[in-house]
Amino acid sequence: MAAREQSKGVCFFCRRELAKGGLTRHLKTCPKRQEAIGKAGQKKGQPQTIYHLQVQDLWNGDYWLHLEMNGKARLQELDHYLREIWLECCGHMSVFQTGSGGWGGSEIAMSRRAEQTFEPGMVLTHIYDFGTSSETQVKVSDVRSGKPLSKHPIFLMARNRPLEFKCMQCGKSAAWLCLECVYEHDEDGSLCDEHAKDHPHHDYGEPIPLVNSPRLGMCGYTGPAEPPY
Ligand SMILES: [Zn+2]
Ligand SMILES: [Zn+2]
Ligand SMILES: [Zn+2]
Ligand SMILES: [Zn+2]
Repeated sequence: MAAREQSKGVCFFCRRELAKGGLTRHLKTCPKRQEAIGKAGQKKGQPQTIYHLQVQDLWNGDYWLHLEMNGKARLQELDHYLREIWLECCGHMSVFQTGSGGWGGSEIAMSRRAEQTFEPGMVLTHIYDFGTSSETQVKVSDVRSGKPLSKHPIFLMARNRPLEFKCMQCGKSAAWLCLECVYEHDEDGSLCDEHAKDHPHHDYGEPIPLVNSPRLGMCGYTGPAEPPY
């Protein structure tokens, strides 16, 4: 299930395609983003501190997000966002902890506001589901003072393109995953449309669609892996 090369994504503002690290630098200087920030600045309302968050799966860095989060927003908004775009399967518990190493940091309350919590360079971990856990690293990569880009507390600036998987039977582009192959037969489990149809395994149900989430296949997660707004 390893991806072939470092995953890329598209800048929301100018549509340029770059890798994760390239986007961190690019987003600081993207002229179209500056334009959008300028426009937002003319709207009514108080300016606030706004954070650029670089988010990635702790175990597979090919899954990542670049987000902007309002300083006034609470961590539960970020929790909600991560659940919607990547994680939610059956309403498990979740927690934010200090540090980048997964379990073992101290808990940060969901009711905390971003501006009470974040400092540039800070890294924290989000853990969803304390059984089959998904661990997500959140790095505060930059900060600006101004108006938000939308009426929502979080704004998606970029995410990785869907990773490309090949069918384990024919090598064509895969769109499906057989969980029985993964868990019982130590196989890749990725299948093209054609080979998903007549695949003989049913113990874990039919093959599930390969969606753009690091939780794919964990605790029966099947997507949709779409942002909430
Ligand atoms: Zn751009
Ligand atoms: Zn679950
Ligand atoms: Zn195939
Ligand atoms: Zn199978």
